[in-house]
Order: sequence, then C-alpha cells, then structure tokens
Amino acid sequence: MDGSDTPADDVGDPSATLLAVVEAALEPLGSDWVERAAAVLPDLRAAVEARATAAAELLDGHGVEAVARVPKSRLADLQRCERSARARYLHPDDRGPGRAALRGVALDRFVLLAAQGSPLSAPTAELLSVLDAQGEEGLCDQVIEAVAEDLAVFDDLVDPTEAWRDLPDEWWPRLQSAATASLAGGRIVCSGRLDAELGGPLVGRPGVVVEVKSGAPRQAHVEEVALYALLVGWRDGVPPALVVRWYPFHGAAVAPVDAGSLSSAAARLGDAVETWAQLLVGRTPSESPGPWCRWCPDAPTCPSAAPVQVSVGAPTSAGGPAELPEDDEVEWEPPDDGVGS
Ligand code: SF4
Repeated sequence: MDGSDTPADDVGDPSATLLAVVEAALEPLGSDWVERAAAVLPDLRAAVEARATAAAELLDGHGVEAVARVPKSRLADLQRCERSARARYLHPDDRGPGRAALRGVALDRFVLLAAQGSPLSAPTAELLSVLDAQGEEGLCDQVIEAVAEDLAVFDDLVDPTEAWRDLPDEWWPRLQSAATASLAGGRIVCSGRLDAELGGPLVGRPGVVVEVKSGAPRQAHVEEVALYALLVGWRDGVPPALVVRWYPFHGAAVAPVDAGSLSSAAARLGDAVETWAQLLVGRTPSESPGPWCRWCPDAPTCPSAAPVQVSVGAPTSAGGPAELPEDDEVEWEPPDDGVGS
C-alpha cells in the first residue's frame, strides 16, 4: 500500500461557498505564481515523453500495437495493486456503479444543475432528466432501482450543492471538461475528465480545477487533482493556480499548484506509463493487498487477498476480499474516463 488511500484531513469550512474558498486561497499568491509554476512544464513534458517513448518501444518489441491508455482511473488502480489493475483491464466491470458510486454520479449532476442555476426541488426527477439528456440510459435505470430501494438515497446530497450557486460569469464555470496528454506520437494516452474548472487564460483569471467527491477525504484525491493540474498545464500552456477537492459533508480542501506538486504528478504518471507497458507485455504483476481487494476481479484466486472485515480493523476470515465503509467504495468510472484519444 502506498498510502494513497489514507485519509486526508485538510478540508475547510463545510458552510463556505466555493467562490469564497477560492478567493481566500488566491489572495496570498503573488502575481507571478502561475508563471513560476508554468516554467517547469516543458521539462516535465520532456521527461514524461522520454519515458512514454521507451514504453512504446517496449510495446513494439513485443508486438503490442494498440494505443496504451493510462486514464486517471488506471493510474489510481496501478498505485493500489498492479495485479488488480491488470485484472480490472482484462475483465472490465460492466455492471455500472454500486450504490456509493451512484451517489457520486448523482452528486456530479446536482453540482451541474446548481452551477447552472437550476432548481433542485425534485432532485430525483432532475437527476433523471439530466442523465437522460446526456444519453446515460443505463445510469437512469440504476437510479430508478436505487430510489425504489431507498426513496431518499440522494436527498442529503442536494443541500450542500448550494455552495455552487451564483458562480459569477466572469469566472466562466464549466463542468466535465477533458484534459488529455497524447505521448510518444499518440501511442500512450493519459486522460482525465475534470469535474469543474473556473477561470483560466481565456478569461484572464487564475485557473482553478475542482474535483467533486461524495466520500471522505483521501490522500489519493490529492494525487488525482495534482495529475489534473499537470494535464491542464500541458493542455493550456499554464497550470491552474489552485486545485480544490470539494466534499459535500466536509467542505473544500484547496491547494496552490506549484513546481513541486506538478513534478510529483509527472513522476507518478511516468511511473504508471512504464509499469503499464511492462504489464501489457507480460511482466508478472506485484500483489499489494488492501481494502481494494473487495472489488478485485482476481480476489477469488489471489493468494495475497486481504481478509474479509465486517467492520474497520476487525478481520474475521482469511482468503477473501476486505470491506470498507461504503463511502470508500472504489469509484466507478466510465470506460477510459469517457475521454477519447
Ligand atoms: S486480491 Fe488484493 S492483492 Fe490480490 S490482486 Fe486483487 S487487489 Fe491485489
């Protein structure tokens, strides 16, 4: 375990609006903050490009010709357990999100509606409406099933999204935008879909990337937003000034983007690209047991699988997958984060 799934506890005031959090965090940053962070981007790109080129050559040497994708979700899988990452790739789970992940899907849409100024007086109907408009018929069915089991399953997510209302137009709020890095002549693609962006060079304001999380704050989320900052920096030529992790029941955790966080993200991405290429050409993956064994397709046969737990810290039997509190469920992601190459 690399510690990426350990709790992160740097969140702020849950009652603060998103804009108030952002403006307070930007205030102490100097006018050249973004410029200084941007200066490292070309070297980081060159370093990751070199590692991706070597990875592509490794694939070529083994007759693997397809584009190798390292979306955000795969990078997170690789950091948890190599064998599980490979298993989730070879046996993709097409069952759709579980209950906790479905709440995350609902939260994303409630945020979208609140940011657009739409009323949320009938949350389930609004949720179904927006999912239908997005062509997510499968998710509509899942929502209907979840509501049939628990009429109020999404209700507690609605009030916190008031923090997203009244974002001024000059901040150009936009949701579900893509950031993709095509490396090694397109042979290696890293992609992410950002929950929300504010500001940026086109509106002459510092950029802000916001990741919406329905569960508890986790260290893995810190690394996730750092990767997004790197991808946005490469996409736009300048990185965002801030990354924000927003939790409906915990508030917002905000961090300035600097050379250090961008460099760490680039190193993790380079590691993931190399590791994924090695696994694709047949290297035996390492096994790193943890709570994620619960969702691992290889858990029934893996000798390292973590023991089942009925409550946190209380193993009851060996040889099966472990359990986590429901809000720690591995996030459901659409294939390739819904981002094409
Ligand atoms: S059961 Fe656990 S240790 Fe084994 S491959 Fe799956 S996640 Fe890794």
